[in-house]
Amino acid sequence: MTRRPYVAGNWKMNLDRASAVALARAVREHVGAQAPYDCALFAPAVYVAAVAEVLAGSPVKVGVQNVHDMASGAYTGEISVAMAKDVGAASALVGHSERRALFGEADAFLAKKAKAVLDGGLELVFCVGETLAEREAGRTEAVVETQLRLGLGALPRTDWTRVAIAYEPVWAIGTGRNATPAQAGEVHTFLRALVGKMVDAATAEALRIQYGGSVSAANAAELLAVPGIDGALVGGASLKIESLRAILDAARR
Ligand code: PEP
Repeated sequence: MTRRPYVAGNWKMNLDRASAVALARAVREHVGAQAPYDCALFAPAVYVAAVAEVLAGSPVKVGVQNVHDMASGAYTGEISVAMAKDVGAASALVGHSERRALFGEADAFLAKKAKAVLDGGLELVFCVGETLAEREAGRTEAVVETQLRLGLGALPRTDWTRVAIAYEPVWAIGTGRNATPAQAGEVHTFLRALVGKMVDAATAEALRIQYGGSVSAANAAELLAVPGIDGALVGGASLKIESLRAILDAARR
């Protein structure tokens, strides 16, 4: 099966309104009306509406980097899935290692968020990945298996059509040290087989698994050439149109 490549930019806590709008406009222009890949931009929540306006009518989607699992209530500072959708978000990131490590988001909470995202009608990019210590201890597969089983193990099979997984080794995020195509490819193969066991073979075959961790204009083509690497979740290099364009072009295959 050929899976449609999926490239997403995670802007994190960067840009201001004007630069987010300008970058979205440039991405829209580059992608055009039709492209042989999917593209989403995960903007800071306060800029989602402005970015959605720029992207209206374009195949490029806007997403949120975080949501709360509850629908409403006394959760100061949080936003619900319905709120994100209301301002134009089509997708949400859950399980990013920065949320796990810096904000203490544990597997059980991430499972609730993933369910809320899908129940609320958004698409989901669910991130998993090991730390350097875990890799060096030979625990990569055990770690990503636990993250995936605890995060998405309870999803009904039908929800999986709106799920992408991002394999993001923590040691590769923002460090300039990407996983080699072989290292990433091995984990993608493992994750796909795992989804085959958790759900079924057809779901595993159709699932898009992005690689994330220092993807750049220079390394995107070799990473995306690996069978089983179906796209990229891009942090730093998604903040500049020149590098993002090159990564999108590498997804034309
Ligand atoms: C990310 O934020 O998900 C990421 C992969 O960042 P970077 O591309 O900067 O490593």
